[in-house]
Amino acid sequence: MPHIQGVQRDAVLLFPASLDEYITDDNPVRFIDAFVDQLDLQELGFRRAVAAPTGRPAYHPGDLLKLYIYGYLNRLRSSRLLERESHRNVELIWLLKKLTPDFKTIADFRKDNLQPLQKVCRAFTLLCKELELFGGELVAIDGSKFKAWNNRKRNWNDEKLKRALQEIDHKITSYLQELDAHDRQDPNPPRLTALELQARIEQLRVRQEQYQTLREELAASGESQISLTDPDSRSMSIGQGVEVCYNVQVVTDAKHKLIVANDVTNDPTDSDQLAPMAIGAKEVLGVETLEATADMGYAHGEQVKQCESAKIVAYVPKPHTSRSQRKGLFTKDDFRYDAIDDAYTCPNGAVLTFRFQTTEKGRETRYYATNACGVCPIKARCTENKRGRRLTRWVDEHILEEMEQRVQTRPEILRQRKELVEHVFGTMKRHMQHGYFLLKTLAKVRAEFSLTVLTYNLKRVIAIMGVPKLLAALLDQAILEKWLSQPDMQVLVKLIEWIDRWLCRMMKRDAKFPTRTSRVFTHSDAGLGRTA
Ligand code: SF4
Repeated sequence: MPHIQGVQRDAVLLFPASLDEYITDDNPVRFIDAFVDQLDLQELGFRRAVAAPTGRPAYHPGDLLKLYIYGYLNRLRSSRLLERESHRNVELIWLLKKLTPDFKTIADFRKDNLQPLQKVCRAFTLLCKELELFGGELVAIDGSKFKAWNNRKRNWNDEKLKRALQEIDHKITSYLQELDAHDRQDPNPPRLTALELQARIEQLRVRQEQYQTLREELAASGESQISLTDPDSRSMSIGQGVEVCYNVQVVTDAKHKLIVANDVTNDPTDSDQLAPMAIGAKEVLGVETLEATADMGYAHGEQVKQCESAKIVAYVPKPHTSRSQRKGLFTKDDFRYDAIDDAYTCPNGAVLTFRFQTTEKGRETRYYATNACGVCPIKARCTENKRGRRLTRWVDEHILEEMEQRVQTRPEILRQRKELVEHVFGTMKRHMQHGYFLLKTLAKVRAEFSLTVLTYNLKRVIAIMGVPKLLAALLDQAILEKWLSQPDMQVLVKLIEWIDRWLCRMMKRDAKFPTRTSRVFTHSDAGLGRTA
């Protein structure tokens, strides 16, 4: 039995009559095309959405947006790769109708439309909401470090700069000693000539000056570190060491694990992210109340309090950061708080009463103590303080205690958190290969990450619904919106068709989705295409 054979290269082929026939009905490019066409790019703020009356005609932003969505969906993120693919990739040739913008035009489009790109991501999230793909009951929040366009060697903190300056001092001293050896005409002359040594000393002095300037800039900025290539990126711990990164945040909904909200920060910790991310997700979902879960890195009293004010019930486990525990002493958990008496009872049975209130790190903190510590037989197990044990309590600590109670009552919600959100970063980093940013500065990486989120959600929605069904739902929604904003005869006909199909679906008949050979209508049929 021979192997499967390809066609002869020199044989005359009968190509399909149109480019459209190369693109199957379930090809995602059909959805990308329809999705971008129904967006109001002018309202979203895209540059050149309306063609200029004079000058050289520009590419329509819709075409470049389609190119980027396709690229991010297919691991093609750099402008040069996208330019190359637009010449040879049949899907892109179809999507762009044989347009082949150069890499500079492609790159400029991304950096000139940062806000609009984020709005497109939000538009797709809202479409998912219209399609009832969000449950709106439970969301999970998590963060991950994505590498910035900044080498570790080009990130400095004061300690690193000090060490580098000391090393330069040592080297200069050593070179000067070798120069002395030349002057003394030492019988064992150094390996380098006097001229070479002087050149190296000069190089080191230049670097010394650069590092001194950096130290001054760092001190003046009030920041703890400085990055030279991407000034907004920060050195962060990534588990296997330290890298210069951004901290990306996502919120996923429990129904289909789709991303509801996202953000990028250069804060290495997640402690200030719980409330903004949960509130952002609640706004998108448009629900009255919401449950939100996150890992212990998000545990922060003020954040939980803000969630409570926004009617968000948080489930965050308590972090184990007690210094007493590390020293083998009783922790605060070994003390029982009585809310009525506002006092703690210690393991020895003594009562620690309220003494005074003060502001520490911006938090109102209450202090508790007892006079019984002086004669306590187990004091060595409790405190190293000669004056006895002191307990502190945040004025709103009951919020954290209630949350701890909730977490203990529903431990399964923490297990669910892992399933809901942790795979997102695995998919982005490994499968989509988006674990690093191509752009520099926070504003640009936010826009870049919104493209990653859009394509991640698009991948999932296609897996859930399939392209034909998604396409039909999109066009249904677009027609309804068009009718509401511009009720004319042409749209009325389409609206009647839409109602007919809707009734068909209600009656459990097969819905007739747009196909290559027998479309009910096309986007341009509905008059929903571009206005420019
Ligand atoms: S040292 Fe003071 S607070 Fe600690 S167990 Fe003894 S009496 Fe209680």
